[in-house]
Amino acid sequence: MPSGKVSLVGAGPGDPGLLTIKGKRALESADVLVYDYLAAEPIVALAPADCERVYVGKRAGAHTMPQGEINALLVRLAREGKHVVRLKGGDPFVFGRCGEEAQDLHAAGVPFEIIPGVTSGIAAPAYAGIPVTHRGYNTALTFVTGHEDRDKETGTVDWAKLAGPNQTLVLYMAMGNLAAIVTELTAAGLSAATPVAIVHEGTKPEQRTVTGTLATIADIAARAEIGAPAIAIVGDVVRLRDELAWYERLPLFGKRVLVTRLAAGSLEFAARLWETGAEPVLAPLIRIVPPEDSHPVRAAVAAAREYAWIVFSSRNGVEAFWQELHRAGADSRALGDAKIAAIGPKTAETLAERGIVADLVPSRYVSESVAEGLLARSAPGDRVLLFRAQEARDALPDALRAAGRGVDVVAAYRTQRAEVSDLAERVARCDIITFTSAGIVRSYAAQLRDPVAASRGKTIACIGPITADAARAIGLDVTIVAGEFTTEGLTRALAAHA
Ligand code: SAH
Repeated sequence: MPSGKVSLVGAGPGDPGLLTIKGKRALESADVLVYDYLAAEPIVALAPADCERVYVGKRAGAHTMPQGEINALLVRLAREGKHVVRLKGGDPFVFGRCGEEAQDLHAAGVPFEIIPGVTSGIAAPAYAGIPVTHRGYNTALTFVTGHEDRDKETGTVDWAKLAGPNQTLVLYMAMGNLAAIVTELTAAGLSAATPVAIVHEGTKPEQRTVTGTLATIADIAARAEIGAPAIAIVGDVVRLRDELAWYERLPLFGKRVLVTRLAAGSLEFAARLWETGAEPVLAPLIRIVPPEDSHPVRAAVAAAREYAWIVFSSRNGVEAFWQELHRAGADSRALGDAKIAAIGPKTAETLAERGIVADLVPSRYVSESVAEGLLARSAPGDRVLLFRAQEARDALPDALRAAGRGVDVVAAYRTQRAEVSDLAERVARCDIITFTSAGIVRSYAAQLRDPVAASRGKTIACIGPITADAARAIGLDVTIVAGEFTTEGLTRALAAHA
């Protein structure tokens, strides 16, 4: 029997960017994903599409799978020869019960590895601007569970021991017992004026932080209705928050942004949004499929060197071109000395990855600018190959033909509408809706009963003027049009608007 293995992986506290590179690699090769909390979508999305996903946590009505059953499940799946990724929030060994899982795996002789994660007890304070240690403030740092089982013989927290000066206490799972905990700490001699912060949903756009003292924090947290999950930080380091609260000051902090572009292109955009403080909500409304007829692609790629210019309108076109080259057993030399145009910087980047430096990248990423640039650098009679989407506009070939160039338009791929079954619900959750192509706008309109009503009160942001026109055509009130037609440009425009 093939021997599988279990990777116990820490997913980090919420911001998917805090997953480790090793954790990402494990997810990418997972056959089964076992998880028990709502991991950020971009993290779950790293597992291959055909990876089995097993949810063992609490969900409306149902109960958490007992720990013993989870352990047995991991053993059984690994014995089937699978690579099992057991995903845990934060760090797997910090109040995560993964120690027990690892012990059972060891006892069963199943190979396993531990991939630590960024624990919420460090990350949530960090995102609230609180360093858990600081030379001027503390010399010790203690992680404590506030959810101790008071009937248990072992594991009772000795609050008196923890109540010394010059230390930071980081309390996990403390919200249920907060009032009792602060009373015990004060009774044990810690000054009632000791600063306390509570960070709810740390590292996420929903992050909320309240501060007070041992005397006041229980009331403050209750009034602010702060519940789990939250980390409480007790100690003088909390004072540093006034200076260091960087995350909550990001331009898009707290905003939810609908990302409608191609799934494959979404991750980079999503990461950029997280870095600007927003939460991306993924709803890929289009997908790429091969053209109906693959013969023109074959013929064009085979005759590539006969063209004066080859124009790539997107990275999908570049990918389709090289796919065909590989299929034919050829490589980049098939391009001969044809000149290459790329409509945008991403397309140019995708070419560069294949060792091709574009001869022309127009300053504005629309067909009209490409036509201008190409006409300036070619002569009547020159042959131009346009390698692009089947449904692209005719502005570019028309302009080139009118100026006497011999133009071959080849449909390298098609974009198709992709169904997002819970689109309406996702739209409702968002503050900002982004569109990166006219086709996406049409797919959006087609999948909502009343797109205008669904989009009311939301900021509509488009990557460029043509996409914006399509959005206006379906009756949307466009608020933002990016000045630079890339997702970086769009993110910058969103931040500037905020
Ligand atoms: N293994 C996890 C902790 C699991 S115990 C880790 O290393 O982070 C669950 C507790 O973690 C919650 O009750 C809460 O105290 C804390 N927690 C988890 N995620 C959090 C977040 N994003 N913000 C604040 N606290 C969080």
